[in-house]
Amino acid sequence: MKTIYLDNNATTAVAPEVRDAMLPYLGELYGNPSSMHSFGGRVAGAVDEARQRVADLLGARPEEIIFTSCGSESDNAAFWSALQTQPEKRRIITTRVEHPAILNVAQYWERQGYQVTYLPVDDKCRLDMDAYAHALSEDTALVSIMCANNEVGTIYPVEEMARMAADKGVLFHTDAVQAVGKAPLHLGQSAIGMLSLSGHKLHAPKGIGVLYVRKGVRFRPLLRGGHQENGRRAGTENVPYIIGLGEAARLAAAHMEDERTRVARLRDRLESGLLAAIPDCRVNGDTENRLPNTSNIAFKNVEGEAILLMLDQLGICASSGSACTSGSLEPSHVLRAMGVPFTYAHGSVRFSLSRYTTEEEVDFTLRHVPSVIETLRKISPFKG
Ligand SMILES: *Cc1c(COP(=O)(O)O)cnc(C)c1O
Repeated sequence: MKTIYLDNNATTAVAPEVRDAMLPYLGELYGNPSSMHSFGGRVAGAVDEARQRVADLLGARPEEIIFTSCGSESDNAAFWSALQTQPEKRRIITTRVEHPAILNVAQYWERQGYQVTYLPVDDKCRLDMDAYAHALSEDTALVSIMCANNEVGTIYPVEEMARMAADKGVLFHTDAVQAVGKAPLHLGQSAIGMLSLSGHKLHAPKGIGVLYVRKGVRFRPLLRGGHQENGRRAGTENVPYIIGLGEAARLAAAHMEDERTRVARLRDRLESGLLAAIPDCRVNGDTENRLPNTSNIAFKNVEGEAILLMLDQLGICASSGSACTSGSLEPSHVLRAMGVPFTYAHGSVRFSLSRYTTEEEVDFTLRHVPSVIETLRKISPFKG
């Protein structure tokens, strides 16, 4: 059975070009980029090139790029640095719909005595800009707002929000893990102070990330030790993965247009097809302002986990909006923040596409999902 992978917001396939670029650095090119000899120097040169490619993708400068072990580390490092360099400021602003890599960090600092504002969202997962303006104050150490939501795909006006923060002298960080490669970024012209990204969401391997720190923003490292990454992140560089991320960044820039046209069309075809074929379902999120690859659909009176299990038997990989893994069967924090009614929230399924998604895969999915929902509704304990 063929796998139809529609779960690209969870992780993506490593691009063949990325794997090929990495292989020499898992083989003969094993030098340490910090070494004085040319065997290491050759590797250092390749790391520099990868840094340049990531900077190009972001519209940033290479010296603003810090390689980390993952998106979560980048998020943790951003909070750490912002709070350590501004000990007099005791407030943090974020949203209710961040990834756990931000939410759990914010909650940690809240327990350490910080006052944290979690901005609410409306039924389309949009932020209230007035509430944000109201929350911003000069004693805010950090604003951290995601570029795009991983569950429903809603895109936030982070450039505008960063400018509003800058007007008050407040540092702005964005978790751009889901946006990089899907939406263009020009950090050179923005007021964004720090940005996190993760390799495995853009066709590089799991276990490599980046923290962008704008030139002039004070920085305090989370990991201390050797002087790697200009003294901003200790630990001998994960060279093969850095090279892979550099290649992934180059490819992402080259595929950006495909993502915004072909991938978006496939997503729309899947979404409108499902909405037309299945009664009592609707889209979660802001269809006007959304990642081109993401569709989160709520099927009324069905259990999301049951849908996923039946899709799995057909080889279709998707994910649900409820966190039954925690044993609670609570809908996700994002759907709850949006106020999605119980009968819809429980039957929410996220389909997320990539540059490797084909029309045949979308059509196969379109053919099978309606009967899956019909079958489950027949045996559903809910009554509509
Ligand atoms: C996946 C993801 C992360 C975490 O990245 P890792 O590299 O898996 O640690 C953080 N934020 C968002 C929005 C994500 O989608």
